[in-house]
Amino acid sequence: MSEVVLDKVRKVYAGGVEAVRGVDIHVPAGAFCVLVGPSGCGKSTLLRMIAGLETITSGECRIGPRRVNELEPAERDIAMVFQNYALYPHMSVYDNMAYGLRNRGTPKPEIDERVKEAARILEITPFLDRKPRALSGGQRQRVAMGRAIVRKPQVFLFDEPLSNLDAKLRIQMRVEIKKLQRALAVTSVYVTHDQLEAMTLADVLVVMNKGEVEQTGAPLDIYETP
Ligand code: ADP
Ligand code: ADP
Repeated sequence: MSEVVLDKVRKVYAGGVEAVRGVDIHVPAGAFCVLVGPSGCGKSTLLRMIAGLETITSGECRIGPRRVNELEPAERDIAMVFQNYALYPHMSVYDNMAYGLRNRGTPKPEIDERVKEAARILEITPFLDRKPRALSGGQRQRVAMGRAIVRKPQVFLFDEPLSNLDAKLRIQMRVEIKKLQRALAVTSVYVTHDQLEAMTLADVLVVMNKGEVEQTGAPLDIYETP
């Protein structure tokens, strides 16, 4: 397990938009950090920089002792969950979850064990042979999470994973994610614009506005102050 540390991180996009303006964040190993704030405040940009999908203009982003921009893609021990699931439509749920491990050459019995374990935790065992189109939105989101879990990454990154679900499912999945977090205790960074989601999930809550960190702390310290 690794901590995630951002030190004076800035991002200026080509064209001059300063999306992230000197952000410091410390996510202790095993903690669940939620970045919350209005659309356009720089949350996704930050997450993509942690993932190594976006260059860092200045400052430093570390996962454990390693700087993200010095890691080769294959060394990035990160799993990302998106709102649009990004499941392969022609593959079964099982194959969707096994795909990344097969690519890495993980032995077949271990793949089988990990996929079945993740399916059990996420309660999708009955759907392992189905194609994604035969699943509900909530089930697809579980498969997307399953695909992340089986990798046993150092860090989980979530980019508004529940925003395509209806209100009832969103609440249900929030509980699921909380359960997962307790079961796995993997260092996580979770982006949302939903304050309730942020409060329920966060150990460390980071409130962003216009590319800057406005407040950071435990949820109750932030929302209960007069
Ligand atoms: P959030 O995730 O909080 O909605 P983003 O990180 O997506 O915010 O965007 C932050 C700012 O950076 C916005 O002003 C957005 O328009 C701008 N931006 C995002 N991606 C790009 C890009 N690829 N090129 C230029 N500007 C971008
Ligand atoms: P890994 O497990 O190594 O990340 P994946 O195949 O799960 O391998 O993902 C590789 C990349 O392809 C990810 O960015 C993922 O979101 C994307 N991806 C996965 N499935 C699809 C799809 N059906 N369509 C488009 N992109 C996808």
